[in-house]
Amino acid sequence: MDVEDNIRQVRKIMAEAANRSGRSPAGVRLMAVTKTVNDDRIAAAVRAGVDIIGENYVQEAKRKLETMGKTGEWHLIGRLQTNKAKHAVHFFDMIQSVDRLELATEIDRRARAAGLIMKILIEVNVAGEETKSGVPIADAFNLVRAVAPLANLSIRGLMTMPPWFDDPEEARPFFRALRELRDRIKAEGIPRVEMEELSMGMTGDYAVAVEEGATIVRIGRGIFGERN
Ligand SMILES: *Cc1c(COP(=O)(O)O)cnc(C)c1O
Repeated sequence: MDVEDNIRQVRKIMAEAANRSGRSPAGVRLMAVTKTVNDDRIAAAVRAGVDIIGENYVQEAKRKLETMGKTGEWHLIGRLQTNKAKHAVHFFDMIQSVDRLELATEIDRRARAAGLIMKILIEVNVAGEETKSGVPIADAFNLVRAVAPLANLSIRGLMTMPPWFDDPEEARPFFRALRELRDRIKAEGIPRVEMEELSMGMTGDYAVAVEEGATIVRIGRGIFGERN
């Protein structure tokens, strides 16, 4: 199947999941995750109307943006080293992988120098997996409170990547935990903090993520096929 057919299929499944849970399909945006994907196929996804391009690496995004030009929103979803923040602020509309104050402080400083406000999500490690990035749920409140005053950042919500399961139903409690955390933080009414976005759900589990409240799903293989 080509990229356009795949996107049509993914959108259909997203809409069905939204309807099943009484949500509007318009409340969920589709991100095409483009790590290792060549420019022609990314361009095909853009033509098919994906809302957001998601990149894992700053250097890869820089190279692609130089050859393709910028269309739509580009979000960083991969782990960001603090010393790369100065480049990241120039290429991305949102950084979804903010999981520590040191990193937030550096993005804020670089955004100020560039004269912009960077939208961010706080990445949460919902299952407490050793190998994964993300702030533990128990520390998320404190991180949001600490980041909130940074004037050149705008917190928009939360992002997570739950453990991988054969059966996507097993990921449901982790998606639900992220939504509940979002709701609790929102209820605090912390100044400057918007808690609308929930970035969760990948090729294997996005229908479940949408049922649990995802506002952005991040799809790589489901659009572009298996990565080499
Ligand atoms: C690669 C990646 C995805 C997409 O995964 P697929 O299984 O290809 O849909 C989503 N989010 C992050 C953070 C990723 O690194």
